[in-house]
Amino acid sequence: MDYTKLFADRVADLKKEGRYRIFAELARKKGSYPHASWYTGGGTQDVIVWCSNDYLGMGQHPEVVGAMREALERCGAGAGGTRNISGTNHYHVLLERELADLHGKEAALIFTSGYNANEAGLSTMGRLIPGTITFSDELNHASMIEGIKHGRTNKRIFQHNDPAHLEELLKESPSDAPKLIAFESVYSMDGDIAPIAEFCDLADEYGAMTYLDEVHAVGLYGTRGAGVAERDGQMDRVTVINGTLGKAFGVGGGYLAGSDAIMDAIRSYAAAFIFSTALSPVIAAGALASVRHLKDAEAIRERHQERAATLKRKLRETELPVTDSVTHIVPVMIGDAERCKEVSDVLLEEYGIYVQPINYPTVPRGTERLRFTPTPLHTDEMIEHLVDSLNMVWGRLNLRRAA
Ligand SMILES: *Cc1c(COP(=O)(O)O)cnc(C)c1O
Repeated sequence: MDYTKLFADRVADLKKEGRYRIFAELARKKGSYPHASWYTGGGTQDVIVWCSNDYLGMGQHPEVVGAMREALERCGAGAGGTRNISGTNHYHVLLERELADLHGKEAALIFTSGYNANEAGLSTMGRLIPGTITFSDELNHASMIEGIKHGRTNKRIFQHNDPAHLEELLKESPSDAPKLIAFESVYSMDGDIAPIAEFCDLADEYGAMTYLDEVHAVGLYGTRGAGVAERDGQMDRVTVINGTLGKAFGVGGGYLAGSDAIMDAIRSYAAAFIFSTALSPVIAAGALASVRHLKDAEAIRERHQERAATLKRKLRETELPVTDSVTHIVPVMIGDAERCKEVSDVLLEEYGIYVQPINYPTVPRGTERLRFTPTPLHTDEMIEHLVDSLNMVWGRLNLRRAA
């Protein structure tokens, strides 16, 4: 059996479809983000990063970097164990308290990533209450889908952000079955937002729990940066909130926040939590500083929204096919995997603009796109340069304009 060939053939399939992933090798420049060095093989080239999820540049913030330096000197590099066996550092406890307070919940639990938090949270909640029916938005993130699968609950998929369809499915389900509604606040590929209040109303009416992924909203929305549920006054209605420390908070790791009872159950039963070395205290200290800083940072959140609105407006003015995102995410549609990759390559190689092509399975086929995430650190000049460059590439490759 030629095992090597079997694997290589599968990868060849991806190449044929134009969706083989090539990672850009970068070194982000602390102090001059969004500038980064791109390692080309022959040397390095300065590029502007336009697709980072470090939405506010907190990865280079002096308070964050300083807190990490201090924790490194104080505690050393790693946690030294799982949370149960010598790995619970003081910084972990402080961070969990901070996150519980951020979301107005009794408790929080940190994980090594938001992915792990979703997988562990949803799978454990499902397994601890047999017979649960999970209602899942059709565009939920891969980590939620995995968690739901591993929870072995009955799964019903409702149409994206559609309370009417969700209600139909709830109505069809036995009234005495335990129920869980799982969804996101900001969907990161289209930049649209869930009707959280309506979903919570349905949860009340049909006796369901709610599980909300605020990964692309924490740090960015709400008066203290707790997310869209905070902004919409719905935070206390959501049973469990999931977030990441790696995107707007700029560091790494993920978490869940909820009642003492649910957090204690997940802490006690989730394999990904129990059997994995705890997050480095250095990371926890950096995340703690970032969360604290962003609790009082309305000006930076406003500037972030203004930058995204400005980019969207300028793209629209030149008839580039930007979608109607209501958030900080700026998708520009291409609709073909190979073209999408080609545009991204030209932008990087010739214009010093780094934006990764977004292809299937991250988005449905035929909706391949570029996804721009302007930060408060992207200047007017950078925006001008981006829009001009896109227009040149659009003309050269004869790409579709906005209707
Ligand atoms: C990125 C992402 C996650 C995973 O968070 P990480 O901390 O990066 O592992 C979870 N949910 C959504 C919607 C995401 O986009």
